[in-house]
Amino acid sequence: MHDDAPYLKEEHAVVTGGGRGIGAAIADELARHGASITLMGRTRSTIDAEAARIAGVYGTPVAAVVCDVSDAVSVETAFAEARQTFGDPYVLVNNAGMGDAARLAKTSSELWHRTMAVNLTGPFLCIQHVLPAMIEVRGGRIINIASTAGLKGYSKLGAYCASKHGLVGLTRSLALEVAKLGITVNAICPGYTETDLAQVAVDNMVGALKMTAQEARSSIVSMIPRGAITQPREVASLVGWLCAPDAKAVTGQAIAVDGGELA
Ligand code: NDP
Repeated sequence: MHDDAPYLKEEHAVVTGGGRGIGAAIADELARHGASITLMGRTRSTIDAEAARIAGVYGTPVAAVVCDVSDAVSVETAFAEARQTFGDPYVLVNNAGMGDAARLAKTSSELWHRTMAVNLTGPFLCIQHVLPAMIEVRGGRIINIASTAGLKGYSKLGAYCASKHGLVGLTRSLALEVAKLGITVNAICPGYTETDLAQVAVDNMVGALKMTAQEARSSIVSMIPRGAITQPREVASLVGWLCAPDAKAVTGQAIAVDGGELA
């Protein structure tokens, strides 16, 4: 394991969906390790506020760049701005994601395509903007925030599961392509994690199953062997570790952070 030296000092890390939830915790963790951070997200006020907070805590340079990862032009413009500010990224964390629930028979074509565009095509587009420079310098870290839904099925989450299984497949394939080039590519697969997205799952259960919010939470917790929902910082600390110099041998993996749900 690594010590607490700021091993990402002088390095640039891009975190998509970095304004809140898991992405904000990841940006915080990478700043703690010394990286210059670019936070990307669609909402200017959210990413600006989080950038100011992180810069205030760690004194590291943090930029906020508006980006919709499902829009190729927006991604191109955002990465050009990010490169201009801090140079080529050494770390890319594809964290932005969405997960609306619907039975497959009721999944509209619009929901299907939007889910794929954000959760799968988004990471593909972002990777294309960082990979050439990583190949040139023979080094980098690409971390895709997938989900336990990338490793198993969940009822009423067909589009989400398909997109996250796709992201795990992309991770494994790219890891093989660049394994000899000092670039590692891994997926992290969180289980239920305490964010706005998990709150949506609770709200859906309340609406669909006529439960109270407390009953819905208890039902989620009952599926987790350790008996607790994952916290964003528990996902973030694994991202930090995967960026450490002595994590170079770990590539092509899909690592669950789920309190034992998939054990
Ligand atoms: P949140 O809903 O709390 O945050 C999602 C983030 O993604 C926001 O910052 C949002 O910002 C950003 N985002 C959404 N759509 C886009 C887009 N098109 N372009 C750019 N940014 C976008 O979610 P979580 O923090 O919970 O989720 C983060 C990741 O973790 C997701 O990929 C999710 O699938 C995954 N995950 C979450 C789990 C959970 O239980 N919470 C479990 C397993 C995986 P804005 O809206 O401003 O653009």
